[in-house]
Amino acid sequence: MSSRAYVGLGANLGADLLATLTQAAQALAALPDTRLLALSSAWRSAPIDAGGPDFLNAVAALETGLPPLELLDALQAIEQAHGRERPYRNAPRTLDLDLLLYGGLVLDTPRLTLPHPRLAERAFVLRPLLEIAPDLVRLATSEAWQAQRIERSGSIPH
Ligand code: ATP
Ligand code: CA
Ligand code: CA
Repeated sequence: MSSRAYVGLGANLGADLLATLTQAAQALAALPDTRLLALSSAWRSAPIDAGGPDFLNAVAALETGLPPLELLDALQAIEQAHGRERPYRNAPRTLDLDLLLYGGLVLDTPRLTLPHPRLAERAFVLRPLLEIAPDLVRLATSEAWQAQRIERSGSIPH
């Protein structure tokens, strides 16, 4: 079984940010049991809640058979390969890969929260996402319905 996952890519340290995003997208496409369905343009934005150089951001849509935590492991391995360090919160970074959405999964664990908790407040996520998944952005930005309790009751025969 495979799922549609959206990954946010960001970089603001290094000589060639576009090359970093290009290599990161190639690394995503090369993950086992994974296909790169779509890749947004690169978008430039000023850092939020931090100093440092401007960011280059993008969003990728994947079809993947990797379970969510294995995908997160893989994203963090790609970050490591690009020399990612975490000296303090919101520090400038060579590469940041956030798992924005994984199918319709809602999860709140120490290692992984889905959807990504700050997804709906970040233009550097929403603007690229709007390019590759416009319907999703319309849903993600109306939050009220998410607080209402509803459970799956079963399939409707057809
Ligand atoms: P932000 O989450 O606000 O974008 P950040 O990307 O700078 O901040 P990181 O230092 O890259 O934060 O990640 C901190 C931790 O967040 C990671 O160790 C990871 O386990 C956890 N995490 C929780 N949910 C997610 C998610 N959906 N995608 C990526 N990491 C997540
Ligand atoms: Ca991030
Ligand atoms: Ca991150």
